[in-house]
Amino acid sequence: MHYLAVLGNPIVHSRSPEIHQNFARQFGIRLDYQKVLVPHDGLGHALKTLQDQGALGCNITVPFKSDAATRCDQVTEEAQELGVVNTLVFQSNGQILGHNTDGKGLIMDLLEHQRVTLANKRILLLGIGGAGRGIVPALLSQGPATLDIWNRTSAAATDYALAMKGAVSAPSKDTFLEAYDLVLNATAAGLSGATPDLPGRVIGTDTFCYDLSYGPRPTPFLAWASSQGTNHLSDGFGMLVAQAAFAFEIWFGVRPDVRRALSELKTSS
Ligand code: NAP
Repeated sequence: MHYLAVLGNPIVHSRSPEIHQNFARQFGIRLDYQKVLVPHDGLGHALKTLQDQGALGCNITVPFKSDAATRCDQVTEEAQELGVVNTLVFQSNGQILGHNTDGKGLIMDLLEHQRVTLANKRILLLGIGGAGRGIVPALLSQGPATLDIWNRTSAAATDYALAMKGAVSAPSKDTFLEAYDLVLNATAAGLSGATPDLPGRVIGTDTFCYDLSYGPRPTPFLAWASSQGTNHLSDGFGMLVAQAAFAFEIWFGVRPDVRRALSELKTSS
């Protein structure tokens, strides 16, 4: 039996255990995958406990992706550039290796499942926490016309844009004058039932709105986007399953069938 876990706070909403159990069944792998609620100052202790229990590794979710990156002994080149990790491997020598699969997961969902292309599109990204940072290079790799970033704490967005040397912009929301082609919500606002405080004019009838958050009902952001007149909407469940498939491949060396998992998990939710 292999042991894995997802660490976060809050964690009750996470569907990672059932996703990884679905993948494990695809390959006849016996897996124990647990959700672990970690106190805000408790990541180091939680990681040590999992290592002592013989876990293969873990997933990291809100709000620990930056903290986890600093606790790795090694990170992949991609994760090093991002400064955030979502997948850890506990090596037999006691070292922790960090990866980030969020960007690849998002792009797979947008391109293959949503049939949304990003080349030459005007994109607005909401939130530059762990998830936002994890997806920016993947978005840029698709050649958008522009990538604007808004964050509730505006200094985080302007500092990030400065560090990215012009590859992205961080306009103030007063300067948002017209609709974007794609608006991605990578804030944690929905976890408390809130919506980012934005002018409705960023959404037009053709704007594709994607919320990295997910749930049994439309998320607050998608409900708000719909009320602004678009019906091009998706939550982040497809990204969740796709990024999990890349993590599973890191742990077990086999890539699960994401479409099959998506159809089985959607019907069972
Ligand atoms: P995080 O590192 O804690 O960052 C939180 C972000 O949300 C920050 O930008 C924060 O802004 C912003 N925020 C929090 N409350 C807000 C509010 N009421 N209004 C506006 N902005 C608010 O969390 P994270 O790891 O980036 O995760 C963010 C979300 O993405 C979570 O809901 C997570 O479940 C989801 N996610 C989904 C997937 C997937 O596979 N579908 C993958 C990764 C993440 P400040 O800087 O102002 O605090």
